[in-house]
Amino acid sequence: MSAISPRGAKTKSRFRVKFWGVRGSYPTVDSNTLQFGGNTSCVEAQADGRRLIFDAGTGIIALGKELCDGAAPAPAAYVFLSHTHIDHVMGLCFFEPLLTPKSRSFIFGPGASRGALTRSLRHLTHSHLFPVSLDELKGKKEIISLAGGEIIRFGSPGSRPDIETARASNGDRREELMITTCKSSAHPLNGVMLYRVHYRNKSFVYATDIEQQEGGYPEIIEFARGADLLIHDAQYLHDEYVSRAKPRKGWGHSTVDMAAEVAAKARVKRLALFHHEPTHDDRTMKQIARQAKRLFRSTVVAREGMQIDLL
Ligand SMILES: [Zn+2]
Ligand SMILES: [Zn+2]
Repeated sequence: MSAISPRGAKTKSRFRVKFWGVRGSYPTVDSNTLQFGGNTSCVEAQADGRRLIFDAGTGIIALGKELCDGAAPAPAAYVFLSHTHIDHVMGLCFFEPLLTPKSRSFIFGPGASRGALTRSLRHLTHSHLFPVSLDELKGKKEIISLAGGEIIRFGSPGSRPDIETARASNGDRREELMITTCKSSAHPLNGVMLYRVHYRNKSFVYATDIEQQEGGYPEIIEFARGADLLIHDAQYLHDEYVSRAKPRKGWGHSTVDMAAEVAAKARVKRLALFHHEPTHDDRTMKQIARQAKRLFRSTVVAREGMQIDLL
């Protein structure tokens, strides 16, 4: 585990990002990937005494156990899905709050209509795939479709967050905890939701499963503008992306170079490379870390257990 944190941060005033799963596409159990971790996408934000969760890859399983461990009743869980591709939801059926009576989960994610996200998630628990239906899982749950451009504000602990559909304007002068959203079409087939979490005038952007175009998508650069941390898809090396034998263009993921370019253009303070290619072992990941620093100096390669304090 590594930590990047100023000393003396107190829980209530803390604004911390913790990586529970950093791998893209599928989990790895290979001993050569243990240093960076094999679980698929799951990132936690701790702010204002709350714990917000981004994506429900296999990394969410350990997080869910920690949330429920010793807590009675289990605290409300707030989960924000980038999209419903299997690597981002495969931990959901094993997420402890969903299995625990009296616990309450709010699950947000992209959906073209009110019930669209619920319908997508029901596929996960189709009787041919899983023995218990989504509705039969014991924990209370509310599934909320987002279109993009929302502002999500948090009331009293455990309550349903308020959603303003007015288009969010950018800017970081935001004291209270809130999330702004941006829907991007830069991922096949149905696009992906990007989230920006604001607290006490600091912010980070969660932008996974996006394939940047030449020069970066202007709307994504604008959405990430000036963020203290940008977590960005960086699944491929440039050589893999343009390889003649197996070109990855059109597969919906960025290269390390693309992530670095967007970070520079958006003038973010720090970049975390994320959604790692599962065939990249720890040695390759260390090479990527060295190379990436040459492209954008303030880059870290996300690894399981890593914590970054923004306050
Ligand atoms: Zn993915
Ligand atoms: Zn995807």
